[in-house]
Amino acid sequence: MINATAEGTGYTIVENASLEGRNTFHVAARAALLIDVRRREALTELFGFAALKNGPVLVLGEGSNVLFTRDWPGVVLSIATRGITVLESDAERARVRVEAGENWNDFVHWSVAQGFAGLENLVAIPGTVGAAPMQNIGAYGVEIREFVHRVEVWDRSEARATHLDNAGCGFAYRDSVFKRAPDRYVITAVEFELPRTHAMRLDYAGVREELAALGIDTPRPAAIAEAITRIRMRKLPNPQIVGNAGSFFKNPLVPESLAASLAREHPALPAWPAGEGLSKLSAAWLVETCGFKGLREGDAGVSSQHALVLVNHGKATGAEIHALAERIRAGVRERFGVELQPEPLIV
Ligand SMILES: Cc1cc2nc3c(=O)[nH]c(=O)nc-3n(C[C@H](O)[C@H](O)[C@H](O)COP(=O)(O)OP(=O)(O)OC[C@H]3O[C@@H](n4cnc5c(N)ncnc54)[C@H](O)[C@@H]3O)c2cc1C
Repeated sequence: MINATAEGTGYTIVENASLEGRNTFHVAARAALLIDVRRREALTELFGFAALKNGPVLVLGEGSNVLFTRDWPGVVLSIATRGITVLESDAERARVRVEAGENWNDFVHWSVAQGFAGLENLVAIPGTVGAAPMQNIGAYGVEIREFVHRVEVWDRSEARATHLDNAGCGFAYRDSVFKRAPDRYVITAVEFELPRTHAMRLDYAGVREELAALGIDTPRPAAIAEAITRIRMRKLPNPQIVGNAGSFFKNPLVPESLAASLAREHPALPAWPAGEGLSKLSAAWLVETCGFKGLREGDAGVSSQHALVLVNHGKATGAEIHALAERIRAGVRERFGVELQPEPLIV
């Protein structure tokens, strides 16, 4: 086994490495090579190596949005760089650079403690800052794209470090240019533009009620973060206790005409206008109505707390969880004629 940690290289290489502790489904998988990068300058050297230049490379953060159904035959690259730097600041806003390996939730708490507003609705989402632009993380009516100034990347196709501005990131619902070209970009840092005041978004899934229960009538970002953390802790299974990757399916976008005919047949189906002649349907409602909530097949299951969360009750393999996901997709397709798309990366 190679186990190289040369002082000063800024990276560590382990051969035939276990990934079981590196994914929140806690499924077993191995990487032919696992490289932890602590200095982003090391990428220039690393991408000169044949294994990275030509072979399959998977960038991994905290593994909270990945399902391994097999071993990875090439390099798993984990960006473990740390640091938060305020680049510019005035009375209204600041531009802040955050290294890719920082924990997202820690950064949200940092931003709230510094007096910035806007990120509080995105509290308690697991994972790294570097992975956050990948699917334009979103929750409680807010998406990260509102606050991204630009993203620093290693561009594998051009073999150089560069930046993509907000428009260049091609953000959409749980989507971005990074997700659409998964073999091209390694995100090394994200620059955020953080306002000091920002319209609060409270009209989402029980936020006002939770604030009222906390006895708060004039909420500040810290109180909103606390309220949302409490709701999330109640609603979602904790991956440290029961393996999961949050919502397994995206809310499907369908033509308005299909949404309208489904609404006539199923008046309880939640749907929202999504622009460009599309409607967004509640994936949770579709899955629950098909009777999958709480289902268990061996150690693979659907959470009884939340119909969209697939869980590993113990020793499920990634392939077993994937088979259950496919069964759910087939059930929803048959009953409603709607195709569900998985949210996590399936390896
Ligand atoms: C309990 C729970 C709740 C969740 N709730 C939400 C939610 O409310 N909203 C939401 O949007 N998501 C949610 N998620 C999903 C997950 O937290 C996010 O997608 C998160 O951004 C993943 O971060 P990560 O570091 O774990 O990425 P990983 O799972 O390691 O990777 C995810 C994807 O990003 C890529 N990637 C990772 N790092 C980089 C990088 N530096 N450069 C390029 N590509 C990279 C990977 O290749 C992979 O395709 C939830 C997950 C869990 C377990």
